[in-house]
Amino acid sequence: MKVGLVGNQNSGKTTLFNYLTGMNAKIGNWPGVTIEKKTGIIKGTEHEITDLPGIYSLSPYSIEEDISRKYVFEEKPDVIINIVDATSLERSLYLTTGLMELDCKVLVALNMADLLEKKGIQIDIKKLEEKLGTKVFKISALKETGIDELIKEIDKKEDLTRAKIFDNNIEEAISSISNKMSDFHKRFIAVKLLEMDSRFYDKNKKEFDKVREELEKNYDTDLEEVIATERYDFIEKTKKDCAIEKQNIITISDKLDKIFLNKWIAFPIFVIVMFLVYYLSVGVVGASTVDWVANNIDSFGEWVGTSLETLETSEWLNSLVVDGIIAGVGAVLGFIPQLIILFLCISLLETTGYMSRIALLFDKLFRKLGMSGKSLIPFIVGSGCSVPGIMGTRIIENQDEREMTSILVPFIPCSAKLPIISLFAGYFFKENSGIASASLYFFAIIVIIISAFILSRTKFKHVSSSYISELPEYKVPSIKYVAKDVFDKVIAFIKRAGSIILICSIVIWFLLSFSFKMEYGVDIEESMLASIGKMVSWIFYPILGQNNWGATVSAIQGLVAKEQVVSSMAVIAGLAEDVEEGSEIFAQGTPFAEITAPAAYAFMVFNLFSAPCFGAIGAMKRELGSTKRMFKAVLFQTGLAWILATAVYQIGSRFNMANIIVISIIAIVVISVIISKIKRKKDGCSSCPYCDSCK
Ligand code: GDP
Ligand code: MG
Repeated sequence: MKVGLVGNQNSGKTTLFNYLTGMNAKIGNWPGVTIEKKTGIIKGTEHEITDLPGIYSLSPYSIEEDISRKYVFEEKPDVIINIVDATSLERSLYLTTGLMELDCKVLVALNMADLLEKKGIQIDIKKLEEKLGTKVFKISALKETGIDELIKEIDKKEDLTRAKIFDNNIEEAISSISNKMSDFHKRFIAVKLLEMDSRFYDKNKKEFDKVREELEKNYDTDLEEVIATERYDFIEKTKKDCAIEKQNIITISDKLDKIFLNKWIAFPIFVIVMFLVYYLSVGVVGASTVDWVANNIDSFGEWVGTSLETLETSEWLNSLVVDGIIAGVGAVLGFIPQLIILFLCISLLETTGYMSRIALLFDKLFRKLGMSGKSLIPFIVGSGCSVPGIMGTRIIENQDEREMTSILVPFIPCSAKLPIISLFAGYFFKENSGIASASLYFFAIIVIIISAFILSRTKFKHVSSSYISELPEYKVPSIKYVAKDVFDKVIAFIKRAGSIILICSIVIWFLLSFSFKMEYGVDIEESMLASIGKMVSWIFYPILGQNNWGATVSAIQGLVAKEQVVSSMAVIAGLAEDVEEGSEIFAQGTPFAEITAPAAYAFMVFNLFSAPCFGAIGAMKRELGSTKRMFKAVLFQTGLAWILATAVYQIGSRFNMANIIVISIIAIVVISVIISKIKRKKDGCSSCPYCDSCK
């Protein structure tokens, strides 16, 4: 049988899906984590089950809602399991009443049963079954209780009749329309026709106009409103009859929110948390592991080199293996300890529920800028990798906001940019490397805010989206889940090193070892790569204060993968003449020896904001819908990166640190004042929860 998991965002669908199939789909406690559907087989049965993105109704507003609606209508599941967050029955039942109109079997699973007692809620299952006319089960996907009975029910015949939720006039009209129809999900479509939903209205349905017009005469307002009101009345009454809630129970989450969402200290806490994340991974772990890992990789390279020599392989082949592959791939792998800490921190922030608070915190600020807290989620996901971040923009209903967000997501430092940041920050800012790398993260946030502010007033004018209204409970993270999450991400990183980076390293080695005349073993200054680099290095002159072909060609390779920037530098440095065996990338004799601290910071800035890797550019193209718009976006990103990096170098190389700090503070204050003064004309502001403050 075909079984679909349908429910609101964050109701526990993926948790149940993983338990039932033994798979490991991504769980998150903010909306929008599942954006594609995922299919598996329920263990011990032959049922095929599909995990769908969260939806609030079957009338799609965003792409992910459309994915779920399409599944219900086009793939025709035999059974729909409607997962309901039992702790917020009222909100969830809206979708349930819609699902009850479908022609397939619907089972309601009241999830999070484990939280009911804590929250002082009691639900009468038998009564709820009678009211809805569907089987209801109390389960906990997390604690794995009550699920067996739910699964057993899939095969059984449905013996309840669905509730009629509208008044007699409407119910009669629905029957008279649906009786004449042959479509699957007749009742559902009949209701939609009465609501004049254009998505279901086609020429064949004209014959039903009369029924609707006849019915309309009974009411003052239009039918859509009547139907919605009756639906809500039904939900309210059902909730009242079936659930008892003890008032005023203050949960631990409420208490924690008093601190983490406090008007005054919430932002400082966020800054400290993110600073700690970078300080720990780049500063502390970076400083203590980089040399150790690099030495080991060098020793490994030497060992392989000597072994190859005893085998009497050719010199060029030894060089390819040791100076190309091992140096290139090894340079990237050396950052794994730091990545583990970064991934661990982010995973902990996600699973504890703190990330959702950050989203809410930024909601207000983002709304002023033309984005909602919903756009923040792609940014958080993007701190792992831009590709899922960009795909995550699908949860945003408003097209302008969605497109704008997908262009800005790559600005957040993704894990592939960490090696660049760590390499430069570690070498040039030594014991301040943690501060330098964290400052880049905040720099990115400021640039995103300013870009959003400008773009939403020029290019994307129709930005206004719903706000985040729900917050999951704080949770003690599951060690099993966090470990698996970190492990998966590290493996993905290693796979990239073993594939894309490996191939690029071979290509770079080739371009460095041969001249255009195809002579092997030339000085790298005469190599093909250097010749190409020297032709274009002027582009980076304002950023680096010098013509540096090595840094130029490396930065360009960031298009393939951002890790490749570091890998390319390692190969170039390793092949440079007059450099001691195994010495650092920035040692005397390498093309990078002359780079100064301001140039290093500017170079990081360029790599942070310039066009992302091909993978992310592809994702951007999908979300933007055309190649032309994708090119425009890439041009915008790279142009902005160049301007910002140039500004950083030009200011940084002229003024001392104290000046720069003071200038930055003044700039931030000035910009904030300007932003708070310019008011955006908002459409649909009435639905915003902050009306008093944004006026
Ligand atoms: P989805 O958006 O519907 O796919 O929801 P997820 O499966 O991603 O779960 C959202 C959050 O709810 C996660 O943090 C889960 O750990 C949590 N969760 C899921 N089921 C339960 C449950 O039965 N009890 C509790 N306490 N938490 C749950
Ligand atoms: Mg999910």
